[in-house]
Amino acid sequence: MTEKNYYKILGIGKEASSDEIKKAFRQLARKYHPDLNHNNKESEEKFKEINEAFQVLGNEKKKDQYDKVGSSAFSSQEMNGFGSQRPDFEDLFSDFGFGDIFNIFNRGRDNEREDYLEGADLRYNLEITLEESFYGIKKTFEIPVHETCNKCKGLGAEERYLKECDKCNGSGKIKVLRRQGFTQFVSVGLCDKCNGHGKIATKYCDNCKGKGKIEKNQMIEIKIQKGVNSGQYMRIEGKGELGRNAPSGDLYVVIHIKPHPEFKREDENLFLDKKIDLSTAIFGGTLEIQGMDKKIKLKIPAGTQSHTNFKLEKQGMSILGSKKRGDLFVRITVDIPALDKTHEKSFKIFLNKG
Ligand SMILES: [Zn+2]
Ligand SMILES: [Zn+2]
Repeated sequence: MTEKNYYKILGIGKEASSDEIKKAFRQLARKYHPDLNHNNKESEEKFKEINEAFQVLGNEKKKDQYDKVGSSAFSSQEMNGFGSQRPDFEDLFSDFGFGDIFNIFNRGRDNEREDYLEGADLRYNLEITLEESFYGIKKTFEIPVHETCNKCKGLGAEERYLKECDKCNGSGKIKVLRRQGFTQFVSVGLCDKCNGHGKIATKYCDNCKGKGKIEKNQMIEIKIQKGVNSGQYMRIEGKGELGRNAPSGDLYVVIHIKPHPEFKREDENLFLDKKIDLSTAIFGGTLEIQGMDKKIKLKIPAGTQSHTNFKLEKQGMSILGSKKRGDLFVRITVDIPALDKTHEKSFKIFLNKG
């Protein structure tokens, strides 16, 4: 039996909490669930794999065992029991803030669940400078989040101004008939007139103007660690969209580093282009460089060629989660001057060509 990396399958790290494991599983399961991917072999396989990973990582005892000896600890027999263990679609989706789209799977239980809606995750792109990444920084910003309107409970109108939808007779669902050859398919879809609410507003709620949601600003303060790079993100629990009688979603702050006018960055290393004049190239000298945090004197040896690289150790970027630093590479180009007639003559004598 081949060794399987259940953490990788769920796209999480070994340190993931049980909540995070559950969340990762649900997100993937929603994507690959057979009920949403009819006759798609690939997603079916993927779904089995995800399920298998969760059967183990979602169970404290099994997870312990797996962490110690790997997936071979679980006999194929145990895993082949998949069919009977297949998680119920409803269980997977109903309490996960999927809102109206998935309420269709909670037939007959809509009213019970209407007041429970987990907030969605949000993504925020935060641009910082290279210097801010170098030193680390505290950032404060505001993001708009949406809260369910209290006055209409998210329905967009007060109860007394709601009437039963005439298209779906208040059920929120409509039957869709589709004919293919001699076969007729019936599927149930959300009513497009009432968006599945079963009710239509005759007068919109004045608090939310019928949107059912109120936008408010949320202040976010985060500490950005030294050495962070573009594409890395921080997850701030509970700072996403607000839930309705349920936890809020999470906020993912994704870092983008602005291009620097002088330095180019590659992971922990920095690169800098510098020009020196001809006499420094020939006779040598000292070049003063403004490094990330201090001025550095770079010794240029006599006879330095254009495009020579100098490595300044530990003068690069801070390394995330470490006290170390990368290196700074300085690439020298020699500035060849345009000479006037008198200089040309003496220069030729100097080169023994005159
Ligand atoms: Zn309707
Ligand atoms: Zn309202």
